Amino acid sequence: MKERLIKLYRLNKIDKELAELHELKGDLPQQIEELNEQKNETEESLNELTTQLQEIETKEEELAKQIKEISTKIERDDILLREGGVSSNKEYEALAKEIEMGYEKIEEHENLIGSELKPKKDSLTEQITSHKQEFDEMFAKLAELEEELKVLSEQNQEEESGLDSQRTQILSEIPQEDLDYYERINAAMYGDAVAVVRKGSCLGCYSSVPPQKAIEIRMAERFFNCESCGRILVAEELISQIPAEKSL
Ligand SMILES: [Zn+2]
Repeated sequence: MKERLIKLYRLNKIDKELAELHELKGDLPQQIEELNEQKNETEESLNELTTQLQEIETKEEELAKQIKEISTKIERDDILLREGGVSSNKEYEALAKEIEMGYEKIEEHENLIGSELKPKKDSLTEQITSHKQEFDEMFAKLAELEEELKVLSEQNQEEESGLDSQRTQILSEIPQEDLDYYERINAAMYGDAVAVVRKGSCLGCYSSVPPQKAIEIRMAERFFNCESCGRILVAEELISQIPAEKSL
């Protein structure tokens, strides 16, 4: 029975050390995950804004091309008019009308470019610039956090895998019913399932243990729980008997 109790004590010690190693990483993994999501969202809207800007630029180029074509035609018609290339008044008027309509069309296009497309373009360009800046900042911050986590993980890796293999070993030596018992209390005690009894006190909650019970705990013929906190109690005298290589 003593052996079974000591194994639970050792398991709890390993579990607490593993929990401590995980705590060192803190919320770094979560921070990284959240930042990654934000970065991806920013990238998505950046792509969307860029597509919108490209559409406007295509439209602008198309209008500019049309303006150029109309100008060329006006120029040609103008020469025709001035050099008397038309044979009748009616033809003259029709050509003059066409030139006028060409100028109107150019003005219309220029207005569209200036008062509609340009403000849209400016606003998109501004948004793209700020999104790009955000993206770059996130990218840099992410690299920084990832490096931090990597260094931490590397530092702890050896210790962690050592503890992991000790845990696997000790788990194989613990009967299932003891393990269920341990895990039930461990969950309720937030990973602090086993408490040492020293000089008549439970070191988990510092309440005193009646002398008769303290003797029974030392004899360890069965499992005892602290009446006040519920932790599994182990006498300090028992732990001191654990061989050095097993004491962690
Ligand atoms: Zn207690």
